[in-house]
Amino acid sequence: MIEMKTAANIAAMRESGRVVARALAAMRDAAAIGTTMIELDAVGAKVLADVGATSPFLNYHPDWARSPFPASICASVNDAVVHGIPTGIPLGDGDLVSIDFGAILNGWAGDAAISFIVGTARQEDLDLIETTERALAAGIAAARPGNRVGDIGHAIAQVARAKGYGLLADHGGHGIGRTMHEDPHIPNDARAGRGLKLRPGLVIAIEPMLHAGGSDGYINGADGWTLRTADGSRAAHVEHTVAITADGPVILTEL
Ligand code: MG
Repeated sequence: MIEMKTAANIAAMRESGRVVARALAAMRDAAAIGTTMIELDAVGAKVLADVGATSPFLNYHPDWARSPFPASICASVNDAVVHGIPTGIPLGDGDLVSIDFGAILNGWAGDAAISFIVGTARQEDLDLIETTERALAAGIAAARPGNRVGDIGHAIAQVARAKGYGLLADHGGHGIGRTMHEDPHIPNDARAGRGLKLRPGLVIAIEPMLHAGGSDGYINGADGWTLRTADGSRAAHVEHTVAITADGPVILTEL
């Protein structure tokens, strides 16, 4: 079922989105060579606790997972694409870090992700992150009334494929509201003009996941959660929660 949101609902989701944005900024500030992802998880969890919000990630247990997710952040480093479990391994110079984070505040969810480099950046990694951010921006621009969900996936894939990157094409974004994952599925690669028609009041998370190596292949990690690129190349993942309004898309997970 797809729940359409009122203006008041969207205003409430904007508040949870701000908490998500604040937490991601705090974790990015705290990340340095030698920092562990478990330490960053604590930074994110504290932002939630300080405002009385809770984590939709912690103990999340979908059908396909062997065990509940054990942390408030998904921390995916280098060849890990998404769903990484935070570890005590210190970050090294030039590591590519993707953090996915959510909040539930006053009954409403927000969900966003960022990718960045710790220490000395390689140009190829900066290019990958920049393209992933452009793919997200293209997907958001397509999230307007009258378009269809396929237009979002088409816009994302056009940006990624033009640069020769692979995509985690069978994963994607999702509706979001009182819970983190709702209908509809938002594809990262799709045919334009296909799928559900976008209407004002629909709120979705859009989240491209790009592979530097050009292949769409991925492998499931031994921990039951982490997805890694099959070719071992690095991956980037960025995400925003976006409300579709009569005036166009509005990003809810910005400061
Ligand atoms: Mg999401």
